[in-house]
Amino acid sequence: MYDLIIIGSGPAGLSAAVYAKRAGLDMVVLEQSPMSGGQVLNTSDVDNYLGMPGMNGFDMGMKFRAHAEGLGAVFENVQVKEVTDAGSHKIVRASAGKEEKTYEARALIAAMGASHALLHVPGEEKLSGKGVSYCATCDGAFFRDKTVAVVGGGDVAAEDAVFLSRICAKVYLIHRRDALRAAKSLQDALFQCSNVEVIWDSVVEEICGQEKVEAVKLRHVKTEDSDSKAVDGVFIAVGLVPNSELLQNVTMCDERGYIVAGEDCVTKTAGIFAAGDVRTKPLRQIVTAVADGANAVAGVERYLMQM
Ligand code: NAP
Repeated sequence: MYDLIIIGSGPAGLSAAVYAKRAGLDMVVLEQSPMSGGQVLNTSDVDNYLGMPGMNGFDMGMKFRAHAEGLGAVFENVQVKEVTDAGSHKIVRASAGKEEKTYEARALIAAMGASHALLHVPGEEKLSGKGVSYCATCDGAFFRDKTVAVVGGGDVAAEDAVFLSRICAKVYLIHRRDALRAAKSLQDALFQCSNVEVIWDSVVEEICGQEKVEAVKLRHVKTEDSDSKAVDGVFIAVGLVPNSELLQNVTMCDERGYIVAGEDCVTKTAGIFAAGDVRTKPLRQIVTAVADGANAVAGVERYLMQM
């Protein structure tokens, strides 16, 4: 029986691991991917984390992990299948290859983060990995001197378009409205890229191609005009979906699937805490995820003392 199980090893889970080890808790981090860091790993430059301007996202993930490991945090590379609330303790069933594993702890921090949302248009699934990508930093290099489209208007879309503009001959940024929601600094960088063309008020109707992406069909949402652009790749950056399925039957989630918890990371279920992008919160950033890790462990300590 552990004091604490942390599920997830993005910035929230790794920060929680650091705080938990420093608090002397007997804990384990369950991570799905052998590479800690979560979404940070797929970010080219992180320019808004205090004290680390221009930090490469992959390097940042490695540093976070090394910090937790240096304090003696134990990581298990498993696929979590089920979380059960047994009141005084929580039971986590997981698998590692063919081996089934069960973990028990008096408290649990859910830090599973969020995944990219799908566009849900014809051609997206069929051409996924054949020109359709959700990660510019992972796949951008395949499109050197080619033409690509980025779909979305948030921070990730703007960042991806800037990143791809350095590699590709031409980048279309396709956004469904006439204003981006990306941070001003990212917009400034975007509008300085001479090979990025923003296509406003437009949605992708279909991603076309037989063996690989060849074009995107567009619809202008105000005029209803149709258009088509020849592209070699489509990078989809239309937001996040919380990875909260495991907790759906154990604690309360909002209508979008985010685990309901405040700044203290306390959920509606005693002994279960939610940290990082998976919880209801107004700002999803690395720094807020890291703060959640600390707050969640403070909550765990209070909870364990009251037990
Ligand atoms: P986001 O901020 O939710 O933006 C999603 C974008 O996709 C929006 O522009 C949205 O349009 C558009 N969209 C959503 N569904 C669509 C659909 N079906 N068809 C076409 N367009 C669609 O998501 P994100 O950019 O992935 O960022 C996720 C979180 O990470 C955010 O909280 C963001 O601030 C954070 N982040 C921060 C940084 C940074 O600070 N450097 C970097 C990366 C990510 P509308 O604008 O019309 O809603």
